[in-house]
Amino acid sequence: MSVKQAEIAGWLVSVDTERTRTTYESIAKGGWEICGCAGCRNFGAVVRRGLPPEVLAFFRGAGIDPLKDAEVYELGKTSSGMRAYGGEYYFWGKVEKASGELSSKPKFRISFASPGALVRPEFRAKGAVRLLFDTALPWVLQADYHPDPCPAEKPTRKS
Ligand SMILES: [Zn+2]
Repeated sequence: MSVKQAEIAGWLVSVDTERTRTTYESIAKGGWEICGCAGCRNFGAVVRRGLPPEVLAFFRGAGIDPLKDAEVYELGKTSSGMRAYGGEYYFWGKVEKASGELSSKPKFRISFASPGALVRPEFRAKGAVRLLFDTALPWVLQADYHPDPCPAEKPTRKS
């Protein structure tokens, strides 16, 4: 067994790291890459260094590949000149203790829930947990910021 507990932002979750890692190896592409709009490509370019270190450490420990989001969307410019992002990832495990607060970090909010409509086929089974986040990331693409909404961000696909 490779189930261990991890704490982040006041949440306590159990994670089956080995199973999660194996499932991520079977996923070919992240949601950002499948969409391919500028906002999503920017996420792919910046996610591995743009997320808070403790979040990246949680991903590493849980076996979650940050480049393989189930869904990500860019929501426009923030007051600090960053881009607002939201999205979700999945892993195998269980929520042990929910946090009263959605967020404990400025610019990064995280919560956990049961699977939503955008769950990948690889995670459509008992024991899947949805990780939801929203954050602000810098724009790093050479391409100019394009204000068109992400095509993946359609109300019908929202959970
Ligand atoms: Zn997109």
